[in-house]
Amino acid sequence: MKEILLCKYGEIVLKGANRRFFEDTLAKELRFRAAAFGSFNVRYAQSTVFIEPKDEYCDLDGMFEAARRLFGIAGVVRAAVAEKNMESILATAKSYLPQFLEGKKTFKVEGKRSDKAFPLSSPEISRETGGAVLSACPWLRVDVHNPDVTVRVEVRDTAAYVHAGQFKGAGGLPVGAGGKGLLLLSGGIDSPVAGWMMAKRGVKLEALYFESMPYTSEQAREKVLTLASLVARWSGSMQVNVISLTHIQEELVKHCDEEYFTLLLRRFMMRLANKTAALRGCEALITGESLGQVASQTMQALNVTGALAETVVFRPCIGMDKEEIVQIARMIDTFETSILPFEDCCTVFTPRHPKTRPVLSKVEEQEQRLNVDELVEEAFSTLESFYIRAKF
Ligand code: ATP
Ligand code: MG
Repeated sequence: MKEILLCKYGEIVLKGANRRFFEDTLAKELRFRAAAFGSFNVRYAQSTVFIEPKDEYCDLDGMFEAARRLFGIAGVVRAAVAEKNMESILATAKSYLPQFLEGKKTFKVEGKRSDKAFPLSSPEISRETGGAVLSACPWLRVDVHNPDVTVRVEVRDTAAYVHAGQFKGAGGLPVGAGGKGLLLLSGGIDSPVAGWMMAKRGVKLEALYFESMPYTSEQAREKVLTLASLVARWSGSMQVNVISLTHIQEELVKHCDEEYFTLLLRRFMMRLANKTAALRGCEALITGESLGQVASQTMQALNVTGALAETVVFRPCIGMDKEEIVQIARMIDTFETSILPFEDCCTVFTPRHPKTRPVLSKVEEQEQRLNVDELVEEAFSTLESFYIRAKF
């Protein structure tokens, strides 16, 4: 018996004239991921992607998990391929389905015939398959209203597909369909989640991490690279750029008032993010800021830092509670890494009483004590890049 994966489109089905573009973007990413798990035939028909192993060496389990992390796919299911006749469909149902129905109490069958030349109607397909399932799994009962599991039989153009239990896919839009964004990635909980959320909307990610050695450690950098690789399992391979803020922070401490340290530092981050985005062809900045979470994330502080942005700034966590952010961090597997206790450049030289309602003109006055352009150029020259290859 041959087993394949069926992936159902997410929001792509709502697209009109440019649907083809979204489908092509998805196809490209899917083929790329499939290559890591063996030799697959990937084809498209009726809002479904068919992923068919070409030989017995394919890792269908691995491909299944990778497909579940692919944005643009709303649901993934493993299915057995049957010939387009009831004899084959029933035999396949009996031999293939019991493994999915163990421990379940109730089921129903949904037959669907998209090939109208097939001699049985959809309700007839359902009834006959239901009988076959009951004979193979006598512990089951039929419950058409609230079944534990729904068995599906899809009679399509070239074959029939039998399966039980659809799994939720990642949803969203295919990565790359929404342009490329620069994720300001710290070692915290919020920024990996922010990157994931924008990747879900089709944004291809590139990351920027600011460090401050020796005040921040080699391990802090390793942690950020690990976070990037975890996000990359969903969003695809990404480049991580690293810039040193050490000299900027030392100058800030020497010349500026303590209550402004964090804000001034964040404005330097913005300037350097602008330059990195321009260099790398990113059309948006992405941060993990959440309104009111810390002093630098009040509305007034966000205005003071945001004033420098040269592209749109996406802050997908802005309206979320910490608990909601943590929930996503756990789901995408970044949480445990994020809580490892390494310092961030924002947590060295932190003011005891940071300004929570800063005024732009006062912040600019502070900056006049520094040679801003020179510091930015110098920091930018420290840029190093790492390519994080996604391990799907
Ligand atoms: P996170 O959990 O993402 O670290 P946070 O709650 O610690 O966020 P801040 O430290 O104020 O908040 O940072 C706000 C945002 O600024 C981060 O979400 C991230 O996008 C960016 N940022 C902070 N520190 C760095 C850094 N060292 N490198 C790159 N971006 C950073
Ligand atoms: Mg942080």
